[in-house]
Amino acid sequence: MSLPGPLPALRSQPKAIFFTDFDGTITLQDSNDFMTDNLGFGVEMRRKGNKDTLDGRRTFRETFQEMMDSVKTPFDVCVEKLLENVQLDPAFKEFQLWCKANNIPIVVLSGGMQPIIRALLSHLVGEAEVLDMQIVSNDVRPRPGKSINDEDGWDIKFHDDSEHGHDKSLEIRPYAALAERPIMFYAGDGVSDLSAAKETDLLFAKAGRDLVVYCEKEKIPFTVFHDFSDIQKVVADVVDGKISVQEAATGRN
Ligand SMILES: [Mg+2]
Repeated sequence: MSLPGPLPALRSQPKAIFFTDFDGTITLQDSNDFMTDNLGFGVEMRRKGNKDTLDGRRTFRETFQEMMDSVKTPFDVCVEKLLENVQLDPAFKEFQLWCKANNIPIVVLSGGMQPIIRALLSHLVGEAEVLDMQIVSNDVRPRPGKSINDEDGWDIKFHDDSEHGHDKSLEIRPYAALAERPIMFYAGDGVSDLSAAKETDLLFAKAGRDLVVYCEKEKIPFTVFHDFSDIQKVVADVVDGKISVQEAATGRN
């Protein structure tokens, strides 16, 4: 569900906007990886696809489509298994409350599927809180002649025609183009974040994950985080003017 009107995250005239990936960033486990590794073609083939995308040999759209195609489990069963297995970053809930108190909208930009994100966020963060959050993502659709809850019944429905499936820069750029605008942050962990990595003022990349290596290779400024308490400290310091986004972009340090 997107909010009505142009540039929804500007409606409260915030000092900052926090764009973020969902899987593996807000959650500890990536739900698409979990489905692929446990219900689909397994971790080895998935890692190969991820590496091909990071190295620029294949698009995220191609490798992600293959991952999802390998999962034949009915959609409702997938959601059930994810609710049992996926955990929230231990500091996200507090960060979310802090953002709300400080008028910093959180915009979730995800390569995952909308119903899974909503189900997990409602379960982990709370239904009322999720209604406040703008979530832009891919979606799910039934395969011809089937229902999504049939065996081999669902397919991923991509957000746009880009090679990313969901080009996260599409949502960020209209804000970036404004003459006067809020400070923009992005947090992510992996291959689904490549389309967003260069678009904001400060990028948080999860320690030990693929996005760190990618940013170093592409010389994209970033700072690492272990959980959302690290992010909250830095966002607070930047918004309060204690440090600049350039000073905050310390890479792995
Ligand atoms: Mg992710």
